[in-house]
Amino acid sequence: MLTRITGLHHVTSMAADARQNNDFFTGKLGLRRVKKTVNFDDPGVYHLYYGDEAGTPGTVMTYFPFPHMMQGRPGVGEVGETQFSVPKGALPFWRERLAAEKVAGLEQDVTFGAKRLRFRGPDGDGFALIEADDDARTPWTGAGIGDAEAIRGFAGARLRLRDTGAMAELLGFMGYQKAGAEGDVTRYVIGNGNGADTIDLELLPEAPLARQGAGSVHHIAFAVPDRAAQLEVRKALMDTGHQVTPVIDRDYFWAIYFRTPGGVLFEVATNEPGFDRDEDTAHLGEALKLPGRYEPYRQRIEEQLEPLDP
Ligand code: ZN
Repeated sequence: MLTRITGLHHVTSMAADARQNNDFFTGKLGLRRVKKTVNFDDPGVYHLYYGDEAGTPGTVMTYFPFPHMMQGRPGVGEVGETQFSVPKGALPFWRERLAAEKVAGLEQDVTFGAKRLRFRGPDGDGFALIEADDDARTPWTGAGIGDAEAIRGFAGARLRLRDTGAMAELLGFMGYQKAGAEGDVTRYVIGNGNGADTIDLELLPEAPLARQGAGSVHHIAFAVPDRAAQLEVRKALMDTGHQVTPVIDRDYFWAIYFRTPGGVLFEVATNEPGFDRDEDTAHLGEALKLPGRYEPYRQRIEEQLEPLDP
């Protein structure tokens, strides 16, 4: 069993409109934009990162906004709900705020003993705010959201699957332990995690396969401290039969990817070097940052990208 994974690192999704996406996460949810860069495989498209002050692993929601992309069709083989942690008592504030902002899909319930407010992103993305009274992470505040309400980072993610057996086994191998079940949903939790500690598996044997598009999660990344731990994890996954990519330099972390049974794309990303490697923490996310190989084409790339800020 692996012992080096510490919870989620980031969640990466797709969107149809960069400005709308930026406004939703910074303006409505009050996260900090911690990096404005491009898709390393398609530099005409942004890669936007939102999180806490430093973009701490376990807080970072990232997006590829592909202009005019069609919406995805929800189904199995994907992350159905990305969950953010907020303090106990914060949900009435959020319900009022998100309703006033005309956010779709607002629905409140209780899941695994915690109050949950579900809502939809601009492209139909499945999100939830979950109340927790023991989340010690320091939030980014502003945009009219104070310390008593602000998002602390991810709580976890809910995966929709036609069959959960192989995924449950994989999560066990990654260091997660079964922590309970509620209806068709089984919860797994990692010990000594970074706060983004839970993975829920939702069993939907009859549901159609998801079709990826705007509003779909592209992949979900798990955190390891450093490159040595990543190599250890990579070897262990390969030894148990997973097809894992070579280590890829993503400038702000190192990444490996593998397709899990059931279809969800997993990444394992390092906590090093972090988002302050090429700009001061005070100015994270302000300037367009390009990986070195695209720097000669900066002018052309900038002309293609729609400005995000008014
Ligand atoms: Zn990623």
